[in-house]
Amino acid sequence: MRLFNHERPDGRVCLGAWRAGSMIDLGEGSLIDVIRNSGWERCRALAESARPLGEQVRMLPPIAHPPKILCVGLNYADHRAEARVRPAPAFPDFFVRFASTLVGHGGVLLKPRVSQEFDYEGELAVVIGKGGRAIRKEDALAHVAGYSIFNDASVRDYQFRASQWTWGKNFDATGAFGPELITPDELPRSVKEGLQIQTRINGQVVQSASTADLIFDLPQLIAMASEGMTLEPGDVIVTGTPSGVGMAREPQLFLQAGDMVEVRIEGIGVLRNFVEDEPSSGPVRR
Ligand code: ZN
Repeated sequence: MRLFNHERPDGRVCLGAWRAGSMIDLGEGSLIDVIRNSGWERCRALAESARPLGEQVRMLPPIAHPPKILCVGLNYADHRAEARVRPAPAFPDFFVRFASTLVGHGGVLLKPRVSQEFDYEGELAVVIGKGGRAIRKEDALAHVAGYSIFNDASVRDYQFRASQWTWGKNFDATGAFGPELITPDELPRSVKEGLQIQTRINGQVVQSASTADLIFDLPQLIAMASEGMTLEPGDVIVTGTPSGVGMAREPQLFLQAGDMVEVRIEGIGVLRNFVEDEPSSGPVRR
């Protein structure tokens, strides 16, 4: 199944799904409730009689407020090389993002007023279905509800101001997530076998790799994270970006207002966002 959250013109948050190439409305609710209540069969039943959505659908992140968003730094060998970090690590570089950074498919990525180094990172996102602690590698994929796409947009001039990356990874409206959640049975092949992942800026390919090249694969990430943390339904693991990020290019390529950023993962879809300058004052609207 392909499920998403969307907002109706009256502001109500609703569930949606794809049926035979068109988007349909499953009514009020959100994906995290489907995951928590194992409501997949009910969604399937609703989808049979649901009404199509119009052309203009305001997509929201598949999980609006994940209990945890765990990101993984430097998890592709070619990206480690371009970032000049070696050798291959013994443990993944987990870091965190907060839900306050999230924007959905079609939403605006805000280039911070204070930054001249706003960068993109196309990544595969994994959403946890069944929670657990000390999950064994062999059992890890049974804990996955589905997959989505993430743009872990990074404010480089803040990311490297301190030894922890939290600051530069948590500006408002910098974590694009979507467009939808797809269940594992929808993948053309496994993540381990390799899905092509590509990032494009205004149509130009800037990152291109295969998920087969992840240093720590999904079972390892789930097993290692859950050594200490209880993973909960709706937690998101953002698995890392391949080479080609803007700061490592020659010349460097940072995001500017007006840019269109697309992250495409084979079999999952395309996450598309537009960059705007952060308004000069006032609170940020998500
Ligand atoms: Zn990243």
